[in-house]
Amino acid sequence: MSGIRPTGRLHLGNYFGAVSNYVKMQDAYTCYFMMADWHALTTLQETKDLRGHVSRMMAENIACGLDPEKVAFYCQSHVPETAELYLLLNMLAYVGELEKTPTFKDKVRLQPQNVNAGLLTYPVLQAADILLHRATLVPVGKDQEQHLEMTRNYSNRFNQRYGEVFPEPYAYNFGEQLAKVPSLDGAGKMSKSENQNATLYLSDDDETIRAKIKKAKTGSGSGGANVGDGGGSEQIVTAMPESVANLFQLLRLVSIPEVVQKFEKDYEAGTIRYGDMKKELGEAMVAFIAPIREKAEAIRHDERYLRRVMEQGAAKARTSAQATLQVAREAIGLNYY
Ligand code: AMP
Repeated sequence: MSGIRPTGRLHLGNYFGAVSNYVKMQDAYTCYFMMADWHALTTLQETKDLRGHVSRMMAENIACGLDPEKVAFYCQSHVPETAELYLLLNMLAYVGELEKTPTFKDKVRLQPQNVNAGLLTYPVLQAADILLHRATLVPVGKDQEQHLEMTRNYSNRFNQRYGEVFPEPYAYNFGEQLAKVPSLDGAGKMSKSENQNATLYLSDDDETIRAKIKKAKTGSGSGGANVGDGGGSEQIVTAMPESVANLFQLLRLVSIPEVVQKFEKDYEAGTIRYGDMKKELGEAMVAFIAPIREKAEAIRHDERYLRRVMEQGAAKARTSAQATLQVAREAIGLNYY
């Protein structure tokens, strides 16, 4: 089970942190993937673009390979059972621990004028999304690790208080470490809400992709892990700057190993030309993004198809959700007759 907020366009971080794993999981597991429109309301005050965001996000997920026939692909607000479980879990969530959550503190910093209770209880709603299907594997990026820990806490508290109902879910990445796709400005991660020019979107056109990568921050000069003092005898070993490490990380995601190795060797030798590296990265990125963009554009305007996908997804998700809530209500003692 996993979800993405429909607050904008999908970017490369969403792809490698989440969607690529959805696609790999869909053949091996029973999957529930969701557009988290209620979560989006914690930050969106203006909702006129929500419909467009949802259509785009559905189309982009499908263009990335998500198959709505194989999974339940639905909208959070179409499964009202989510809200009931959220309410029940709120009784097990403590305000003190919610206030300490790093993502909450970040949001307080980003939108001090709108510190709403939904922001505070965001991890509880997320726990409800996951526990609703009694899911155990949650394909998310590294930024979500702490939220998963909170979900496990709520699951355990529920089980201890009312009896065994929920499993312990864990963040999941197919065979590797959790992904964190870095931004192009040398620090932090790609994100829908922060620097748009440092984030590569799956809908960016070829020229935009090339231009963003061209402007990406790099080291100065020709880099090099070993910087000589000019005399040649001693060498001062310096760590690779974060901005350069980020470029290498992006290159590894979309390029073949031979290309990556070539630039790694150049870097070590101190002969790297960042202009060449960025050109290579730009072309590899264009080759990666363009087919997804074109496919998504065609799907996005097919309203009848998208409506069918949404209805079918909600029906599958509600069947699972209703079964869970039945068990949860009984465990609590909310069944009187
Ligand atoms: P969001 O865009 O915050 O709704 O996140 C949707 C999914 O994308 C979550 O699973 C995140 O962990 C993942 N994600 C977002 N940004 C990144 C990033 N830069 N690197 C890796 N995963 C990410």
